[in-house]
Amino acid sequence: MSQRNSKARPARPAAGKKGRRDAHKDAAGRVHLAVHRDPASGNERVALRSPVFREAWQNDVATAAANTAYAVLRGEPSVEGAIELARNAMEATSRLAAGLLARAPGGSVACRAGCDHCCHQAVGVTPPEALAIVDHLRTTLSNAALAHVARRVAERHERTRGLPSAERFSPDHPCPFLESGRCSIYEVRPLACRGMNSLDAAECATRLRDPEARAAFLAGGAGSRSFMEPIRAFHAISAGLQLSLSELFRLDMRPLELTAAVHLLLTGPGSLADAWMRGQRPFEPARGADQGKDPGLGEPSGALGLAPGRDP
Ligand code: SF4
Repeated sequence: MSQRNSKARPARPAAGKKGRRDAHKDAAGRVHLAVHRDPASGNERVALRSPVFREAWQNDVATAAANTAYAVLRGEPSVEGAIELARNAMEATSRLAAGLLARAPGGSVACRAGCDHCCHQAVGVTPPEALAIVDHLRTTLSNAALAHVARRVAERHERTRGLPSAERFSPDHPCPFLESGRCSIYEVRPLACRGMNSLDAAECATRLRDPEARAAFLAGGAGSRSFMEPIRAFHAISAGLQLSLSELFRLDMRPLELTAAVHLLLTGPGSLADAWMRGQRPFEPARGADQGKDPGLGEPSGALGLAPGRDP
């Protein structure tokens, strides 16, 4: 991937009220962030213009993630910086999720190594996450191993491209990174995978593998039981990342479908990441079949719980 020393436009928020700069509006005219500059010190900090989550702690986490993104990318934004940012968000999500999981009633969270029921569905990722995953593959695998992974991703992409999320949820469509029941990219797994958890592994198995239970689940009649706090943490960090990069750096942060995004990066032109950093939309083919309906593949604003009062 040609991604070293790539440059993008630095943040240029429009001038707003005294001491505050407004961020770039999205296509719907929405803006969630403002950059405040301390006149005495010259220090800048990013703040939410108004709460976007019901839970105050989620707003704090989203603001912290937005500030981290602003600090990492401002000045000389690069693909390398975006990868660093994704890694940072991945580690922060895992740390936060682990702390929250530790507060769950003893033994209530059923997730264990080797349990892979939730790895058979469409997974949403932001462009920095996809770039970090491909960078990890390129830097840790031999040429032969990378070619093997690329073939598997291509084969899974061929079978799943164009399928709506409801049809992706199937034992026939395991994630291409699932190997012998374990995640082969655990170190750089998407943010969504880090927040995911279940209170009942048997329920997960039945829902995935029993056609009637799966149909009932997909019809909305039978939900899954999860410990919500780690999922809320993932949403907050992802929202801060998405809002900061889209509103302060004008980058296309619409979530992508994991398999399609990795396939595109492994087979597309080497200039793809640079084009994204220039504000273009080269990831459009990896947007997924029904991103408008799947909350995991939603817009950076207006989805992922960003509408005030929405849950999670
Ligand atoms: S990336 Fe890893 S954890 Fe996430 S769905 Fe794929 S195999 Fe499962």
